[in-house]
Amino acid sequence: MSRKGFTLIELLVVIGIIAVLVAVLLPALSAARMVSVRAQCLSNIRQLQTAQVAYATDQDDLILAAGDGSVVGSWIGVLEPYGARPEVRRCPADRSPFFEQPFPGTDPEKLRATSYAINNYVSPTHAPFGIQPIVKLSEVSQSSTVIHMGELAETGSYAGSDHLHVQNFYLTIAPQITISLINQQMPLGRHGGQEMSWDAKLNFSFLDGHAESLKIRQVYTDPTTNLFVPPQFIKQSDLEE
Ligand SMILES: [Zn+2]
Ligand SMILES: [Zn+2]
Repeated sequence: MSRKGFTLIELLVVIGIIAVLVAVLLPALSAARMVSVRAQCLSNIRQLQTAQVAYATDQDDLILAAGDGSVVGSWIGVLEPYGARPEVRRCPADRSPFFEQPFPGTDPEKLRATSYAINNYVSPTHAPFGIQPIVKLSEVSQSSTVIHMGELAETGSYAGSDHLHVQNFYLTIAPQITISLINQQMPLGRHGGQEMSWDAKLNFSFLDGHAESLKIRQVYTDPTTNLFVPPQFIKQSDLEE
């Protein structure tokens, strides 16, 4: 007796094999996509930092000012003539609605200018109370260990900002509270690692011009152990109240 086509069993086996293949391959695909998106974002932030180095060279060593309302958008507009192309403003994983709709309560209406944020410890404006604002690059010792830019939260009160308030990362010694405070300002989980965890990965650039993908635990532990506060300030301001 000759057979035509497949039996039901054969068909089910084939469907089963396909299902297993999909289950095995999908996570690998999404992991590969995560890596490529993170790399694209890293290239963005590196390009912004390279532009800041060019800006400083051209402008008598000046550091960018956070929240400069005189410039369209923010500091990001200042960098355009220095090689920061408009398309590097946005991280490919950034799903913030405020690129398209105005940030609530802004008058005149303001859109989100960028996915990236300046560390307020190295800005001539918005330095924490009691800290001498840094105006020039040369004022920071060990510039290769000081973060200049990080990634900005997509929603919440920081989503429409252009800089971080690093002094607000820390309120108590409780690590869970600290991580939730950091998460208000930076999108923990955007580039891998569990959301709102110390293992969440993000991209950072440093004052010397280099950029790295790092886990939060590698860049911040507490006010005296982190890569945001320039070393000269950590000596002054320890953990006293
Ligand atoms: Zn990113
Ligand atoms: Zn501020």
